[in-house]
Amino acid sequence: MTQLRTPLEVYKILPGTNCGRCFLPSCLAFSAAVIRGDRKLTDCPPLRKSGTVAQVTAIHGEQREKELQEQIGLLQARISQLDLGEAAARIGGELCHGRLRLQVLGKIYDVDPVGHVTSVCHTHPGLVIPLLNYILDGRDVRPCGRWVAFRDLKDGPSMNPLFVQRGEIPLRQLADSQPEFFADLVSVFSGHRAEADLSDTAGADADISVVLYPLPRLPVMICYWQPEDDLESKLHILFDACADDQLGIRAIYSLTVGLVMMFEKIARGHT
Ligand code: SF4
Repeated sequence: MTQLRTPLEVYKILPGTNCGRCFLPSCLAFSAAVIRGDRKLTDCPPLRKSGTVAQVTAIHGEQREKELQEQIGLLQARISQLDLGEAAARIGGELCHGRLRLQVLGKIYDVDPVGHVTSVCHTHPGLVIPLLNYILDGRDVRPCGRWVAFRDLKDGPSMNPLFVQRGEIPLRQLADSQPEFFADLVSVFSGHRAEADLSDTAGADADISVVLYPLPRLPVMICYWQPEDDLESKLHILFDACADDQLGIRAIYSLTVGLVMMFEKIARGHT
């Protein structure tokens, strides 16, 4: 089975009974919601009961893992041609026993001359790929301290819908379902509560704002508004306004989605 990319592909694995137990009017509406990222396959009770979700998830997981390992192999081939000392100076790392050492979310990650990444922490492919891209293509630019939304970065508008779907929505769902999520970001991933004045940013009036450093010179701020009365919760991910001088928009997108995937994986391990 190939990856589910269109509503029709999702629809084909649904029971097709239009029973409404997913609180949508039809299986087709549910299929479109899954592709938009507003629903998960597990939100269809009959499908969940049939065991199909577990099968589909396992197949997709294996396929995705294979694709990611291929990408890592290509990046490692480029790393093996690189001067790691030059890269360390350019991106805020250091050379340590012939390896490039970087702080990622407060943890040490070492990259050897052929691009193998080691750390005491998770080395999830979703994080390793942006890390290797950063080493290869990151530019020598320091954060300027001003926060902007993804759509405000260079070339951000065209990728913003995908960014919201793959980054902000799943992270909001995670924050909604894990009351200790932000405390974990601070204690486990060396985040800190935002101190800057956010009044003129997309993070203004957030209930919680936490700054993380997924790369040494590329901070992100996660701003969360708790649900209130009939209002749903809200979450925005902000970037330093100079982030797009360091990395291209695709690499910033991959980094953020990789982070979200890693947080989801860790949360699944806890439940
Ligand atoms: S719960 Fe499942 S079977 Fe029922 S309408 Fe929704 S998608 Fe279709």
